[in-house]
Amino acid sequence: MSDAAEQYILGIDIGASRTSFGLVSLEGKIFHPEIITSKVEGKLLADRVLEVAAGILDRAKAEGKKVLGIGIGCPGIVNSAEGMVVAAGNLPELFGARLRDIFAQKFRLPVFLENDVNADAVGEMVFGVARGQKNFVVFSLGTDLGGGIVADGRLHRGANFIAAEFGHLTLDLSGRQCVCGGYGCAREYVSGAGLADRGREELPIGSLALQMVGGDREKLTSKEIFAAWQKGDPDATRLVDEFGKRFGALVANVMKVLDPELVVLAGGVCRAVPELVNLVVRWTRHYYFPIPKLPEFCLSRFTKEDAVLGPAAVFMIEHKIHQPK
Ligand SMILES: [Zn+2]
Repeated sequence: MSDAAEQYILGIDIGASRTSFGLVSLEGKIFHPEIITSKVEGKLLADRVLEVAAGILDRAKAEGKKVLGIGIGCPGIVNSAEGMVVAAGNLPELFGARLRDIFAQKFRLPVFLENDVNADAVGEMVFGVARGQKNFVVFSLGTDLGGGIVADGRLHRGANFIAAEFGHLTLDLSGRQCVCGGYGCAREYVSGAGLADRGREELPIGSLALQMVGGDREKLTSKEIFAAWQKGDPDATRLVDEFGKRFGALVANVMKVLDPELVVLAGGVCRAVPELVNLVVRWTRHYYFPIPKLPEFCLSRFTKEDAVLGPAAVFMIEHKIHQPK
């Protein structure tokens, strides 16, 4: 019989731009990491994911590694009870895909499918900065803004698997329509793409962030805006202050509903600009109750490759391989 150290979960994190793979040990070590581009002309993402997964599982077999199952994280609304992607705004080809059954039939392994940021939250609880925490929230800030809630030590999915859609909380009553059908959603302001849009609309000609992309507004991303902000540029500072205010108001709203002990800031934008933590704390304090003690705020330590830890951790919890303490 193999001992726990030789058992692994294949973790797959499907993203709008990149999809990550890795064989995750029960202690959270990642082997055979691979990252592919999610969108390739003329090829179906699900087929390519199956192909890469097959390659990693073959290597595991050759090395005598026992794979207990597959955990998959996917953006959008994911019905984890049925293992189906209900809707995925950024990856329409996955609408209605019964990924759990497709993978289970192909590889003859148990599979668990979960929303990507929900999976991140479980990953933080099992392997990350939220170890031992029972009430916390995750804000995942990248191109888009996602959320995850752990309440009383359990992932909170809601009645229709749409809990923790922090990016679609209304922040502006007269805001524009969002892809979700609502208006003035947080992600229009508090996300990498949202900040870049604001920059395109509001930065005056010749301002530092625009100079960094040769004056071409279409090429502007949040990266240049944050870089100009870090250099003290007044136009970028105005934009980032507004971004911080809205982010703080959003976090304060979520805290008033859930009263967490920890707020985890994750995702590519937070990784690239760790100073955001202070900005968010400052504005959260402004919009929150005037009590002396805020919950702890901390930056996720996960890298892009670590994205596979969440789906693997969800599998471990759901199959009772890992019991939360
Ligand atoms: Zn929305």
